[in-house]
Amino acid sequence: MRGVILASPRDVQIVDRPDPVIVEPTDAIIRLAASCVCGSDLWPYRGDDPADQIPMGHEYVGTVTAIGDAVTTIGVGDFVVGSFFASDNTCEICQAGYQSRCVHAQIMGEIGTQAEYARIPLADGTLVATPGQPDPDLIPSLLAASDVLGTGWFAAVAAEVGPGKTVAVVGDGAVGLLGVLAAKQLGAERIIAMSRHADRQALAREFGATDIVEERGDAGVAKIKDLTGGLGAHSLIEAVGTQESMMQAIRSTRPGGHVGYVGVSHDVDLPGLELFFSGVHLHGGPAPVRRFLPELIDLIWNRTIDPGRVFDLTLPLEQAAAAYRAMDERRATKVLLTL
Ligand SMILES: [Zn+2]
Repeated sequence: MRGVILASPRDVQIVDRPDPVIVEPTDAIIRLAASCVCGSDLWPYRGDDPADQIPMGHEYVGTVTAIGDAVTTIGVGDFVVGSFFASDNTCEICQAGYQSRCVHAQIMGEIGTQAEYARIPLADGTLVATPGQPDPDLIPSLLAASDVLGTGWFAAVAAEVGPGKTVAVVGDGAVGLLGVLAAKQLGAERIIAMSRHADRQALAREFGATDIVEERGDAGVAKIKDLTGGLGAHSLIEAVGTQESMMQAIRSTRPGGHVGYVGVSHDVDLPGLELFFSGVHLHGGPAPVRRFLPELIDLIWNRTIDPGRVFDLTLPLEQAAAAYRAMDERRATKVLLTL
């Protein structure tokens, strides 16, 4: 099969990789309907994470082509959505709703789903079948559910978004934009998107943002305070993962408020005394997307939400290198790879 590897930083190659086979009786094999590049793929692409001949991709939707002997709830021919961690969905951690930290969690990024086929471990726990074969126009949204929508949704839940709340979102990538969508669905009264890009501001408004703040850092914090009577927002969604974005989120939150942080943390060092006096709740981490998949698939299937709007460039898998370049240079928010 054809698949993407990162040979070294900035060297994306599309190569022949071995067709996946059933290894464990709990595995399934899927033929991907589409794949995509994630903002987090840019960390190794830019050399900020190790990159040495690694398979790429952790988002996936597609059709089951084979199952192991122990798989009971998923069948060949099912159209399925899964998350970037395979999980058994039965251990105590999964049952509490934290499937990304399942005691048997397996990292899909190590399997690499920017490819024609993929082996899905723990298929019964990991995969959720759609009600039927999706219309082609639903596939981008279902693919978004696999990571960026589920991650933005978790950030909103972790930030305790709800009716009457003012929510601010740090980060205007796909996750931040879908955090706006999630906040709207969860009933937020006011949603402030922090973005300095006109096209992303427009999509944020389409997803439900009521205010846009272009300033960042301390100036951004001051603007959020201005908009909230000097108090700060009730709920902050942090979707970047840097020191600046994390402090922007914490400082924009009112005492007693909640920060949901889902940007993969890179060199973030929280000042203890400032955190102590902030009085804010911090909750986040790798999103347990599996917890939300049934609900998100339903909202997409009945066309209540259209998270696939975050894909603003579509390229064939064979042009994956161009897809990475477009995202690295911020010419695209998120690139869909067709197979
Ligand atoms: Zn588990």
